[in-house]
Amino acid sequence: METTIFKNIEIKNVTVFGSGVLGAQIAFHTAYHGYNVTLFDISYELLENAKQKFEQFKPMYQLDINAELADLDNAVNRISYTTDLKESVKDADLTIEAIPEDIKIKKDFYTRLGIVAPAKTIFCTNSSTLLPSQFAAETGRPERFLALHFANYLWKNNVAEIMSHSGTDRDIFEEVTQFAKTIGMLTIQIYKEQPGYVMNSLLVPWLIAGLDLFRNGVADAPSIDKTWMKTVGADLGPMAMADLVGLNTAYNVTKAYAELTGEKAWKDRSYFIKENFIDQNKLGISTGEGFYKYPNPAYQEADFLK
Ligand code: NAD
Repeated sequence: METTIFKNIEIKNVTVFGSGVLGAQIAFHTAYHGYNVTLFDISYELLENAKQKFEQFKPMYQLDINAELADLDNAVNRISYTTDLKESVKDADLTIEAIPEDIKIKKDFYTRLGIVAPAKTIFCTNSSTLLPSQFAAETGRPERFLALHFANYLWKNNVAEIMSHSGTDRDIFEEVTQFAKTIGMLTIQIYKEQPGYVMNSLLVPWLIAGLDLFRNGVADAPSIDKTWMKTVGADLGPMAMADLVGLNTAYNVTKAYAELTGEKAWKDRSYFIKENFIDQNKLGISTGEGFYKYPNPAYQEADFLK
């Protein structure tokens, strides 16, 4: 069984809250790396769905990271399931929360969790857009609380961003980093709060720059991507990446910025995506069309950069 020990802080029992897109992956991956995992959700029906997802992960792990079937079966056997919050954390060393991205839901949740969790338990949030300081007080243990942020398909996109808020204990920050390394992550330590972490702080402006070139009629999508791919030596340019991320996500992000800043440029971007993509069901790879057509997009053709 896997254990992380750092300055007498020991992690062997991990509880994951939420069995949705990311929670199911985090639970399975943590168990795959030898930890005892408890998976919590608000109904047994949802937990049953998670069990089906684990079966779907197995061939992906075999294909993507050469995992052995016996190790994948053992991973499933190390996961237990509950809808009882107190029971879920009774011996938890570390918890990873992947419940809906809604500040009210998170605040309510941490207020309840802080009361029933043992004093030793470290709390991590996987939130993508909220900052730990927005609900640190509700945890009742701000010094043992921080963000541990995974990417979708985390077994192959294995980067974990570990982000403190101003009240996080430095040893806890290091311990969580060690833990993330033991489950095969490339760890990125973020010393102060940054909306979007490092990844989205880089990705979002890049995607927006591509979108603006397209939207303002400066160049077409293949030309924008060819420029980037050829000069940087990358496999994808911003327009193809927008299709991969999904135009619905791009729309939600631009809409959120428009509401946050009130700036006309963000409103224009969000309106442009809605009118030209969302309303025409061009959501990117998921619907077969975005800036490119799928399953055989032009940027994958052998002569695209010729
Ligand atoms: P999701 O909607 O797929 O899953 C959320 C799960 O939380 C559901 O199973 C739901 O039943 C459960 N839940 C709802 N209310 C709850 C409550 N009160 N207590 C406990 N569980 C509750 O969401 P997701 O996409 O997995 O995202 C979860 C978190 O992970 C969010 O904070 C999100 O920002 C973050 N995240 C998501 C992605 C992604 O690609 N989806 C990537 C990185 C981080």
